[in-house]
Amino acid sequence: MDKKFRKTVIAGNWKMNQLASGVPAFMETLTADLTVGKGEEAVLCVPFPLIPAMKAAAAGTPVKVGAQDVSAHDKGAYTGEVSADMLADLGVDFCIIGHSERRAYHAESDELVNEKLKVLLAKGITPIVCVGESLEQRDAGETLRIVSTQVQAAFQGVSAEEARGIVVAYEPIWAIGTGRTATSEQAQEVCSFIREYLAEKVYDWDTSKAISILYGGSMNGKNCAELLAQMDIDGGLIGGASLKPAEFASMIKAGSEDA
Ligand code: PEP
Repeated sequence: MDKKFRKTVIAGNWKMNQLASGVPAFMETLTADLTVGKGEEAVLCVPFPLIPAMKAAAAGTPVKVGAQDVSAHDKGAYTGEVSADMLADLGVDFCIIGHSERRAYHAESDELVNEKLKVLLAKGITPIVCVGESLEQRDAGETLRIVSTQVQAAFQGVSAEEARGIVVAYEPIWAIGTGRTATSEQAQEVCSFIREYLAEKVYDWDTSKAISILYGGSMNGKNCAELLAQMDIDGGLIGGASLKPAEFASMIKAGSEDA
């Protein structure tokens, strides 16, 4: 089965929630009885100031630490920005880029997402690149066009070898934080389209089969097993449910069964 060619990734996105002081207790509950599969990555993408506390609490556990954004610049006069070098220096392994909240509230373009992807690759940090359509775009039958444009732009100038280390997250905007999950058929349809697009229009099937494609959008302990059972869904990018340690642990366990 194709899934053996790639990792299952269960990644939490804490967004702008939690405090560094709460990290040790959260991690104690999360890791008390944690099952992470052989072909699985369990990741928590936390706000920048929480990274050192999360690194300390995750030490000796299978949980990897991620960030939620990165500057496209290497260094210099960019007040408020955080470079890939700084993230690598803190031991960050993953970084979300192109989240719909950053595209919407910080006017991030496809070109900027591509620049961010490249600075992360240069520092050995795995990008989790988010793509997805709005409700208006879905209703207008534009989903596949929007998603393919975002994928094409994100991978621009990236070699097939580098592409194998990238994670894509399909996140329909109408499903993020709304409690309205895409059905497993809707999610599979777009994830499978992304895989085919990467195989036929950007790289080749060998490369595409190695790329983990996640679903994100109101994924939780109840619906994750059905979503993960889909052939082209290799994990989840999880917002709200990743703030609840017991529920997030159950989702990592579901991922271990799928890995
Ligand atoms: C997200 O933060 O990317 C996300 C999918 O959030 P939620 O799971 O809360 O919908």
